[in-house]
Amino acid sequence: MPARRIDLHTHSTASDGTDSPAGLVRAAARAELDVVGLTDHDTTAGWAAAEQALPEGLRLVRGAEISCSRQGVSLHVLGYLFDPTDRELSGMLADLRDSRVVRARRMVELLEADGHLVSWEHVRDQAQGAVGRPHVAQALVDAGLVDDLDEAFSPDWIGTHGRYWAGKHELDAVTAIEVIRAAGGVAVFAHPAANRRGRTVGEAVIEEMAAAGLAGLEVDHVDHDASERANLRAVARRLGLFETGSSDYHGTAKSVRLGSCLTAEESLAEIERRATGIPVVAA
Ligand code: AMP
Ligand code: ZN
Ligand code: FE
Ligand code: FE
Repeated sequence: MPARRIDLHTHSTASDGTDSPAGLVRAAARAELDVVGLTDHDTTAGWAAAEQALPEGLRLVRGAEISCSRQGVSLHVLGYLFDPTDRELSGMLADLRDSRVVRARRMVELLEADGHLVSWEHVRDQAQGAVGRPHVAQALVDAGLVDDLDEAFSPDWIGTHGRYWAGKHELDAVTAIEVIRAAGGVAVFAHPAANRRGRTVGEAVIEEMAAAGLAGLEVDHVDHDASERANLRAVARRLGLFETGSSDYHGTAKSVRLGSCLTAEESLAEIERRATGIPVVAA
């Protein structure tokens, strides 16, 4: 039997992707995936529609990509198969989303104060779910202030610590891992070495996260080069963490294709073995 194609990190319009959750699972089937993870930023709002539209033969791993930090460095933790009704976790996700609105409005204010014609209403209209910088970036493109999303993410605009950037609330990474686990979920450190977007944490922080119950590292990711992947594989082996590989697909908001990086069968089996929150679902 050929290996199943497993992609465990994607975004829909529930956060900053451009495919609806239903459109995303249909696109995943067209991309010949066998298993897809839906991991919108700080929300589970896309889960129900994705599950309802799930094509025959495709399995859905419900998850979320949670905004965290540790030692002043922003990072993302993927939570898989947690109970979405868990009070503590759902409350924390709600706080993160509220903060996303406050900070997006703040970026608009900073732009307006410099005479750049970007309105909060326009930014808000870009977002059907959790608002993010890509929605502000799209508003900058629409206003003719930048040529494309990449330019919007430069230091001159809303790149991390850039001129019109504003920070958002982030959970402590160790706390987030503990809360994901308490909700029956499994925690994986998303793109741990993605330094193109800002600072990354060192091995000591990954060790702290592992001690808190981190289960895996997302090794194969478009933002990691070959040496970063080799280094992360060594860290994973040393700390007893499994490896994942995923596309981090965002529809047209990013150029990566579904299935551009894949996860091994054993890693998915380990996620399913550890999870006590909710199951992987099939149509
Ligand atoms: P936020 O979570 O609101 O701070 O927005 C960060 C998100 O913006 C990341 O998760 C990426 O999906 C996206 N992003 C980061 N850099 C870029 C870029 N250069 N072009 C398009 N999207 C980007
Ligand atoms: Zn994103
Ligand atoms: Fe991320
Ligand atoms: Fe992502």
